[in-house]
Amino acid sequence: MSRTALRICPLCEATCGLTLSIDGTRVTAARGDRDDVFSRGFICPKGASFGALDADPDRLRTPLVRRDGELREATWEEAFDAVAAGLRPVVERHGPHAAGIVLGNPNVHTMAGALYPTVLLGALGTRALFTASTLDQMPKHVSSGLLFGDANAIPVPDLDRTDHLLLIGANPLESNGSLCTAPDFPGRLKALRARGGTLTVVDLRRTRTAKLADRHVAIRPGTDALLLAAMAHVLFEEGLADLGALAPHIEGVTELADAVRDFTPESVAAACDVDIDTTRALARELAAAPTAAVYGRIGSCTVPHGTLASWLVDVLNILTGNLDRPGGALFPQAATDRTPRPAGPGHGFTLGRWHSRVSGHPEAKGELPLSALAEEIDTATEDGTPVRALITIAANPVLSAPDGHRLDKALDSLDFMVSVDPYLNETSRHAHVVLPPPPPAQSPHHDFAFNTLAVRNQVRYTRPAVPLEPGRMAETEILARLILAATGGHGADPAAVDALVIEQTLGKAVREPHSPVHGRDPHDLAARLTGTDGPERRLDMMLRLGPYGDGFGARPDGLTLERLLAHPHGIDLGPLRPRLPQPLKTRSGKVELLPAPIAADLPRLKHAMAERPAGLVLVGRRHLRSNNSWMHNIPALTGGSNRCTLHLHPDDATRLGVRDGEPVRVKGAGGEVTAPAEVTDTVRPGVVSLPHGWGHDRPGTRLGHAAGDPGVNVNQLLDGSLLDPLSGNAVLNGVPVTLTPLTGAKL
Ligand code: SF4
Repeated sequence: MSRTALRICPLCEATCGLTLSIDGTRVTAARGDRDDVFSRGFICPKGASFGALDADPDRLRTPLVRRDGELREATWEEAFDAVAAGLRPVVERHGPHAAGIVLGNPNVHTMAGALYPTVLLGALGTRALFTASTLDQMPKHVSSGLLFGDANAIPVPDLDRTDHLLLIGANPLESNGSLCTAPDFPGRLKALRARGGTLTVVDLRRTRTAKLADRHVAIRPGTDALLLAAMAHVLFEEGLADLGALAPHIEGVTELADAVRDFTPESVAAACDVDIDTTRALARELAAAPTAAVYGRIGSCTVPHGTLASWLVDVLNILTGNLDRPGGALFPQAATDRTPRPAGPGHGFTLGRWHSRVSGHPEAKGELPLSALAEEIDTATEDGTPVRALITIAANPVLSAPDGHRLDKALDSLDFMVSVDPYLNETSRHAHVVLPPPPPAQSPHHDFAFNTLAVRNQVRYTRPAVPLEPGRMAETEILARLILAATGGHGADPAAVDALVIEQTLGKAVREPHSPVHGRDPHDLAARLTGTDGPERRLDMMLRLGPYGDGFGARPDGLTLERLLAHPHGIDLGPLRPRLPQPLKTRSGKVELLPAPIAADLPRLKHAMAERPAGLVLVGRRHLRSNNSWMHNIPALTGGSNRCTLHLHPDDATRLGVRDGEPVRVKGAGGEVTAPAEVTDTVRPGVVSLPHGWGHDRPGTRLGHAAGDPGVNVNQLLDGSLLDPLSGNAVLNGVPVTLTPLTGAKL
């Protein structure tokens, strides 16, 4: 029998509401949910392919356990026995840091991924944590940590009310936004222009977003921080810096003015290839607009000065008085945020509390650079133990991190590896145990992370659209059992994990003077939680303790899980509101405009003024029907314009004798790949572009469609030792390469 069910789309950061058509237990169609309070019916091609993705025949249905060198189907019991038997001896023999954890990007797109990895990390006590953040967004976390004292306090552009938006290194018409959750980002940009606002795009490629803009500045790769510093300089020089109502919350303005004194438009013009008048115009337009927001993403983060660029994005918002005001850049307030504490000094943000064992990279936000994972496994040092066991959750670093060949070999040398992954992919094929979560239609959904980045405050929750099929285990239970198996509790009831988290959270809440449950009995509060299972009770707890919650009766009109379930299309919590100084957790209690680590890194940026790439440089690109390496196994989402081709400018093609469609060998510091050329003037001369997430040609995977059109792994060209030093983020853009046309050769 056919029916419909609601499901929040987990396939990118936009979190659109979907209406699924379901026949039996099969999703036959997906369309945008017109009544969704946030997305209002928007859907993109990925969301429309939800059914195909859900039913992908290559999804693993049962756990796999390695026996006699082969991964074979096993029962859940056998699989968790194998995890406990493989992992515990490593931890007991070598200590907790010998067990590494790798969290991939899809973790933030599931409830389980939001609720359990932090518990695992705390229980295991390892410092060997690696995540996808050091491939794309750690610079933003670090700059927020240094400026605001909280690495997760990330202001987002007020897209629906701003008068002027400056995008740098961002292509939301393809990505649908990142670190800025906005269903129908393209429509919101068009609405901005329709209401008389202006859109400026700084991007080395003439992207679809750039084509929509009033002004497109085709900057040289890797120089965004220089341009932004020069804009800050212009604001000071021309007396345009005006903090407005922000002034009481900011310290370090005079020091900042001194720090950017040398970054004149004249001095950065050649490095950025942006003329002086344009730089001045960008700064003046920002200052003159009634409201404005600067937003930077991947292109500005994944470069040697990523943290400085991220910092300068917020500096410009602050200097023009646009931080924390409607139409500017504001701090969202999610329904599951912790109870806001009173404003005042906090503990601040510290980098480098420990360092990676081999290269001494400082931790950032508790993480080590994913680029360093291979050496942390394959290199012995006098101090410390290499990573001997690895837990990967929704991660495919063999494709997503620099120099996958080295990591590929290193993974084979591990004593034990367990992967939580729906696919046997380039990384999970090395595991001793693979634990496959169910398809998304069989899982509940709430966006814990993305609601903290949303351009409008709202809350939504969808229960599984179809029941778990026989033999499946909920991802929440998989991770709870994994925690138990990894920490010596193998065989215990997985519900104990949720119960412990609830006990600890409520126990802490009742001791906090600002909490609505201060002084109450935590056992009584726990007994009041609703929900059909542990994860739902945890969601109920977070909602009730959160800023809109009922405080377990203290605020009777407030949010609870029951109230949320009564609103299947979600509850709108209103536009973003000014929140300063409450979100600040710096030691001063103010926005610290020129933090010491940033000031210490500025001389490196100054040196970059004189740098000019001698030859071609490589950048990545994103396609609307892709999200990293996840979707290449879905026929509806590959082919057409979503192909792994090398974009290069016609002038470079002519000079090098490269012909459109013919193979070209690309050589970088980390290796070489061969890809078909696509000659296009959407890239600027001197720049070539390959998309990431491809390279599905390794043996031992089960990705039938992807293997038929594997593409090449762009990360194989990269030098894994190249990082943004403050954040440990890999340098993925602006990397020198050489090209050799292979005219007449077949791919
Ligand atoms: S924009 Fe993102 S969240 Fe929305 S339908 Fe597409 S993939 Fe899903």
